[in-house]
Amino acid sequence: MRMSTLKDIGDCRRLVVKIGSSLLVERGEPRKAWLASLVRELAGLRAQGTEIVLVSSGAIALGAAKLGLARGGRSSLADAQAAASVGQIALAHLWSENLGAHGLTAAQILLTLDDLEDRRRYLNAAATFARLLEAGAVPVVNENDSVATAEIRFGDNDRLAARVAQAAGAAAVLLLSDVDGLYDRDPGLADARLVEQVDGITPEVMAMASGASSSGLGSGGMVSKLQAAQIAERAGIALAIINGTHESPIARAMDSARGTLFLPRRSDGARKAWLGGRLAPLGTLRVDNGCAEALRSGASLLAAGVVGVSGDFRRGDLVKIVSMGGNVLAQGLSEYDAAEVQAIAGKRESDQAERLGYAPRAAIIHRDHLVML
Ligand code: GLU
Repeated sequence: MRMSTLKDIGDCRRLVVKIGSSLLVERGEPRKAWLASLVRELAGLRAQGTEIVLVSSGAIALGAAKLGLARGGRSSLADAQAAASVGQIALAHLWSENLGAHGLTAAQILLTLDDLEDRRRYLNAAATFARLLEAGAVPVVNENDSVATAEIRFGDNDRLAARVAQAAGAAAVLLLSDVDGLYDRDPGLADARLVEQVDGITPEVMAMASGASSSGLGSGGMVSKLQAAQIAERAGIALAIINGTHESPIARAMDSARGTLFLPRRSDGARKAWLGGRLAPLGTLRVDNGCAEALRSGASLLAAGVVGVSGDFRRGDLVKIVSMGGNVLAQGLSEYDAAEVQAIAGKRESDQAERLGYAPRAAIIHRDHLVML
């Protein structure tokens, strides 16, 4: 089914619902009445045949209160990690109890960025989601904050939710936020208008997010929500931002159709969708205009068009491709190590063998391992 308005939420076969810290936790305590109202809605959706995967923040906020850490546990990575490991127990208990009250079984899954960047581990996580859903459980996902390091962490659960939706084969993602959705300018301005539907995220849409604010408890502002929407739209998944601050927020969004719905754009094959959603490229290749044009028409990336190489990557690693102006065009898996790309950048095929000391491969990134962004 294709979601074309918020009223279609109930028709999704499988739905990811992301709940931010500021909705779930207030002054270090769970917002029990609100949570009960949300879980009632989730149970209702489930009874009507929509499978639910939850992505829940709140571990850091809950744990920081228990440990008495300043700034909600976000003064340093060490604080956040300690807070998360204490708070995650409380968080899991909260979901297990609330879902259990409706006869639903909660299943905890803690993921790091790397678990979804590596193809084999991604498929393994996907298989776990499939089995849990088949068995009737409600997966409750969070980032494994207590072991994730600064360099390789999502840091916000918005992008995690989009990646989880891919892994779990969901049709749509609902991001429950403390605002109604995306505004066309700083929502504090009198003439700011809610954008109800986005059909493809353009640089203009990205620019709208810069003025948006967030409550300070969580880490995902509007920018991370748009990044999540980009991952989702490329994977053929609808994503909606709705206001979660009221009780029964999903019914409210469906009734009023208030929120921002990002329509899915294309559905690459499963592997390319995964590749396009990867978040941690290890290098950057700058390409000339002719090469950028060729990539847009579906060609592989050839050495002749590469004008700059940076980063430390090995064969098989993810690299991003940027234009002369620095815009990100694509990403893909490099056929060469960084030093080898350096050696053959800008060279025609006939000159490459001499530089490499062996017969060159057909391309730096084959089009099968390349996704336009
Ligand atoms: N994973 C973090 C937590 O459970 C929250 C990340 C976010 O703010 O999105 O507290």
